[in-house]
Amino acid sequence: MEPTPATPLVNLYDLPRAALGELLAGWGYSAYYRDLLWEALYRQQVESFDAISGLRPDLVQALRERTRLERPAPHHEAHSTDGFTRKLLLRLRDGQTVETVLMRFKGRATVCLSTQAGCAMGCVFCATGQMGFVRHLTPGEIIGQVLHVTRLLRETGESLRNVVLMGMGEPLHNYDATLAAVDTMVDARGLALGPRFITLSTVGVVPGIRRLADEDRPVQLAVSLHGATDAERGALVPAARKWPLAELMEACRYYVEKRKRHIFYEWALISGQNDTPGQAHALGQLLKGMEAHVNLIPLNPTVGYGERPSGPDAVRAFQDILAGYGLPSTVRQRRGIDIDAGCGQLKAAVERQRPSRQPTAS
Ligand code: SAH
Ligand code: SF4
Repeated sequence: MEPTPATPLVNLYDLPRAALGELLAGWGYSAYYRDLLWEALYRQQVESFDAISGLRPDLVQALRERTRLERPAPHHEAHSTDGFTRKLLLRLRDGQTVETVLMRFKGRATVCLSTQAGCAMGCVFCATGQMGFVRHLTPGEIIGQVLHVTRLLRETGESLRNVVLMGMGEPLHNYDATLAAVDTMVDARGLALGPRFITLSTVGVVPGIRRLADEDRPVQLAVSLHGATDAERGALVPAARKWPLAELMEACRYYVEKRKRHIFYEWALISGQNDTPGQAHALGQLLKGMEAHVNLIPLNPTVGYGERPSGPDAVRAFQDILAGYGLPSTVRQRRGIDIDAGCGQLKAAVERQRPSRQPTAS
């Protein structure tokens, strides 16, 4: 067996550009080399140091000895029958697997990223919540998902436009790593993704929302509500009991005021549960007069939760009530339901098939 190094090698994908600069400066290399390496990693997207031209041999040697270039590896893949959605299960260094979903629609490619293995928030309807929390992802494990899909898109001459942090995990429970990865995504010398096209979805971690507002990070914010009274919401989103709606809405108002940006509110519509006229009116009251847009997502059924999605009539009635409060809403059909493309569902399905599963390379 190989001896374990005393200090684990740095995964270069964990470092935003400034941190990479500090690392190289500590070894005596100028910002010129930082930028050369950065552009190789994120613009040319090389996968080994050998493929980078212009690096001094002594720097290549130092990088080989003290760093690693590690991306998540393909583990399992599913394609939707509509051809738009490709769902990937990627394997991390310690064998954990996370989901990344690539959606191509009308020439606009969107990736849905995971920020944690599992999730501690325990939303009863969510396949990831049903698994429990395993661990936070590192920035490199989040960026590695982006690099994986940009490589797939390059094969067909497409490029990535939208990023949604809506895969497995709660991004604001893993704030530092998630936002470090976002910094790398928007860096103009690298992936150069548009801040307007990055959406961070949170279950409503109040301190994280306030921190986002204070730091002016380059993301659009989406807040998952699912219930418009503390009792209803707490039954679906156990973590929400820690941050009552009054506190959450105060943080949202603070965010809108400081950032001058509207917030999306997400609502999984569950038949007979939170799709009632009473909840629609309560939601209308809660958001009335705020800069808000409601995304309604008919429930994607999961094995661990017996309820059903709302039917089209209930969805329409819900929207009409919201409209009465001046609230715009959009019904978001989850694409690729046939491939378990709901949050955490492919992983759950693959685990159920054990031990017969076969890793598939993409
Ligand atoms: N943890 C974050 C982001 C990941 S979940 C959050 O909760 O916002 C992304 C979105 O998918 C959330 O709005 C979540 O409530 C929703 N979601 C999860 N499981 C779902 C399901 N089975 N049906 C419909 N929406 C679901
Ligand atoms: Fe976690 Fe979001 Fe799933 Fe809730 S919906 S369990 S916060 S991933």
